[in-house]
This record gives sequence, structure tokens and C-alpha cells, in this order.
Amino acid sequence: MKVGFIGLGIMGKPMALNLLKAGHEVAAYDHHQENMDVIAAAGGQCRDSAAAVAEDREVIITMLPNGPQVKEAVMGKDGVLETAAEGTILVDMSSIAPLDAQEISRACQEKGVQMLDAPVSGGEPKAIDGTLSIMAGGEEAVFQKVYDLLLCMGASAVHCGDIGAGNTTKLANQIIVALNIAAVSEAFTLSTKAGVDPVKVFHAIKGGLAGSTVMNAKIPMITEGNFKPGFRIDLHIKDLNNALNTGHEIGSPLPLTAQVMEMMQQLKADGCERDDHSGLVKYYEKLANIEIRDN
Ligand code: NAD
Repeated sequence: MKVGFIGLGIMGKPMALNLLKAGHEVAAYDHHQENMDVIAAAGGQCRDSAAAVAEDREVIITMLPNGPQVKEAVMGKDGVLETAAEGTILVDMSSIAPLDAQEISRACQEKGVQMLDAPVSGGEPKAIDGTLSIMAGGEEAVFQKVYDLLLCMGASAVHCGDIGAGNTTKLANQIIVALNIAAVSEAFTLSTKAGVDPVKVFHAIKGGLAGSTVMNAKIPMITEGNFKPGFRIDLHIKDLNNALNTGHEIGSPLPLTAQVMEMMQQLKADGCERDDHSGLVKYYEKLANIEIRDN
């Protein structure tokens, strides 16, 4: 397939590389030339704007930080909708607010472009392995047309409902991940302060009911003191902000999300916003005046 790829950051770069590996023809654009150089070295084409990417593509994928960047790349000057032909499919795989996805989809419809919102879960390692979990919203028939393409980047792709449903599902995912990191941080702060080796606690409980994908991924990072992202705190703040705004708009209170959001705001004030979100543990470490590290 002739695929366009816009946004070649931590996630977009390996996803685009997996499309190339699967034999698709990829034309790409990112604000940063060095990100495009990686795609060119792997056999892709680099273009100088989102509009230039969209000129001759069947499917265009966007993997950008948030709604404003997706709107700029799709609806803005030199954006996708300036050049995309009728019948082009836009798959926005960024994590954005569901209402933003619906607004972008309406602008696409006016130009005869069909849109899916299809955010992902799994982070950089699964983007590299091509084993992301993909959650999509939009017309089922459009989803079926790109299903095989999505599986070049993911281990699963589930159609969740109408446009916006992919991002609603992703908000649920991000709430669970954030609260899980907070729960793991709180519990390991207690056990470490009480004098028990955190690595032993991890091995003792990971197979029981308290075990989780989050604990398996984040405790090794925390005990090594490795907070290199992965998924940055500033992006998780963006997701929790989208979750809180959505919750307020539809009348679904999110008391625990609000509390973890304030912990992340404290870390941002401390200059840690570019750390991996496992860095949430630093909030607790400061409260208890300890560090949870492998001895
Ligand atoms: P990133 O900041 O590493 O990458 C974003 C890229 O978009 C950058 O290379 C930037 O130059 C480019 N960009 C920004 N605006 C642009 C524009 N208008 N036109 C062209 N390029 C533009 O972010 P990321 O970690 O790759 O995350 C991308 C999306 O995926 C976010 O919505 C994030 O929440 C989501 N996500 C990230 C992870 C993760 O672990 N990093 C996991 C799941 C989902």
C-alpha cells in the first residue's frame, strides 16, 4: 500500500519502520529532519510537509503528541486536507481527546476523506516489536480496509465503535496505567521504608493478584533508577488532562485520576516532566525520604 506517515517520534519512527519491513511504500514527514533521515535510510521517502505526504497516498497515518498537533497537520496550512484525494483514509494513531477526533473527522468528511481514530498501547518496546495493542473508532468498513495494515504495527486491533471510541478506550487505558503506577509506587515505598528489599517484594508478589503488566515493566526500571522514557510524564499529564476534560463534559467524575494528576504536576514543577512515567515513584520517595533501589 502507499502509506503516508506523519510524526516520527519515539513511537512513530519504529511503527513506520515496521510498515517498510512489511513491504509497504512509506512517504513520511516530521518537524525534525533527523527523524526523517532514519526512514530514508530504511528505504522510505521524506517529504517537506504533511500536504506533500498526502498528495498520492491511499492511507495516511498520524502519530503526533496531541489534538492541536493533529489538527495542524491535518486541517492546517500545508496540511493533509489540502492535497488528499477523495477516498483517502486517515488513521490518527495519536492519543488525543475523543471530541478532537470527532472534530477532525468532520473536517475530513467535507473533503471525502475517511477517518479512524486508532490510538495504541504498549509503548516503545512494543512499537519496535510490532506488537502494539490498537483500539479503533470509526466506520467498521473503513476499519476492515486497513486491518491488515494495522497488524504490521500491532499484535491486535479492535474496532471499539464510532469515531472517538478509540480514544475513549485509550483514556480508560491511561487512567488504569497511571493509577497502577501510583499504587505500585505507594506500596513499594511502604515496604522499602519498612526495610524489605524491593526486588524480593517484586518477586514474591508479581505472580499473585497484585501482579500487573505495569508492575513487571516499571519495578525493574525503578529499582535500577532508570527513568529514561518510554512514555514521558508530560505526555501522561496530557492524557489525564484529556480524561478529566472528557469526564467533566459527560458527567463522569474521576476522583483518583485527579489525585494522580496533581502528583504528576508536582513532578513537573520539580523539572521531571521528561522522565518516564515510572518516575511518579519520586513523588512518594520524597514524601517518605527514601529511594526504592536494588541493593
Ligand atoms: P514524541 O514527542 O516522541 O513524537 C512526536 C513527533 O511528532 C516528534 O518527532 C515531533 O517532531 C513530531 N511533530 C509534532 N508536531 C508535528 C507536526 N505538526 N507535523 C509533523 N511532525 C510533528 O511522542 P511519542 O512518544 O512518539 O507519542 C506520540 C503519540 O503516541 C502521543 O499521542 C502519545 O501519547 C502516544 N503514545 C505514546 C507512547 C509512548 O510510550 N511513548 C505509548 C502509547 C501512545
